[in-house]
Amino acid sequence: MTTATISVIVPFYNEADNLPTFHDRLSRVIESLTKRYPYTWEIVYVDDGSNDNALDWLQRQQKKDRRITLVQLSRNFGKEAALSAGADLCQGDAAIFIDADLQDPPELIPQLIEPWHNKQADIVYARRLSRKGESWLKKVSAALFYKVLGRLTHITIPPNTGDFRLMSRETLDQLNKLREHHRFMKGLFAWVGYRQKEVLYHREARHLGRSKWNYRALWRLSLEGITSFSTMPLTLATYLGLIAVIGALIYAALIIYQTLMYGTDVPGYPSLMVTILFMGGAQMLTIGILGAYIGRIFNEVKQRPLYLVKTHQRATQKMTKKKP
Ligand code: UDP
Ligand code: MG
Repeated sequence: MTTATISVIVPFYNEADNLPTFHDRLSRVIESLTKRYPYTWEIVYVDDGSNDNALDWLQRQQKKDRRITLVQLSRNFGKEAALSAGADLCQGDAAIFIDADLQDPPELIPQLIEPWHNKQADIVYARRLSRKGESWLKKVSAALFYKVLGRLTHITIPPNTGDFRLMSRETLDQLNKLREHHRFMKGLFAWVGYRQKEVLYHREARHLGRSKWNYRALWRLSLEGITSFSTMPLTLATYLGLIAVIGALIYAALIIYQTLMYGTDVPGYPSLMVTILFMGGAQMLTIGILGAYIGRIFNEVKQRPLYLVKTHQRATQKMTKKKP
């Protein structure tokens, strides 16, 4: 008899301190689930070019635990690429994406599986009710970002949702078709569509170590999100130009009127300065926006692979057969 396999995909970068605890908690959850569901499990660890000894530890672990698949990328490609590598190489009939730093509690996995198991949803994502261990500035800027993004794009990206989710094989295959280089995963997940269901949870603080996201990285991610899913900023130039032209016309009319009524006046230097600065600024801004999009086009046309796999050791456990 064949049973379905669930792949748990864990991208990690320098998480040697967290991995033992993570693996322990995940294993315990899987243990309890094998009692309830007939699924076979695969745990895909994607090493995103770590330079600590996490891979050694995992390789030792793999000898004991036949569910472990190890994928080692050739360097650090970033979490999005690592996730994509896991999504491409996993064998499951469903895949669960989860962070290695225990911010996504493995104990939530049963809730992610249930709607999929009952055939009520194709994608089950975890939405954060709270974020522990994050500054108010990060929370406020995140809220603002989701608001702006919601306005600018046509797809609805659920707020406070990360990569922590379950995807059915069908939706995963669709996701894997999207090979764009600038990968704003939250957007891609939403773009795929299908029946999506949310599960609420309280996001925990990082177990050990520091987040790889500083404000600069978050700013870049926000730009990625907007430029990958909206061309609205490109039309900004049109509106700015229109406003400037209308303003200039009104101003010209005013000057003509003044000249006719009160005779010639020495034209004002300040108004000239303001006009020049405004026009110059508007032009620089819009050229900058154009540049942002052209840069992205440049990166896409190169069509480089999203990541390079250095080693790939598959789980030794049979995936499609039920264990006796
Ligand atoms: N990560 C990765 N590659 C990177 C950066 C991060 O695979 O270049 C992994 C990291 O090890 C963790 C997850 O992605 O498992 C989330 O990273 P992090 O905790 O730094 O992000 P945050 O939780 O702050 O969003
Ligand atoms: Mg984290």
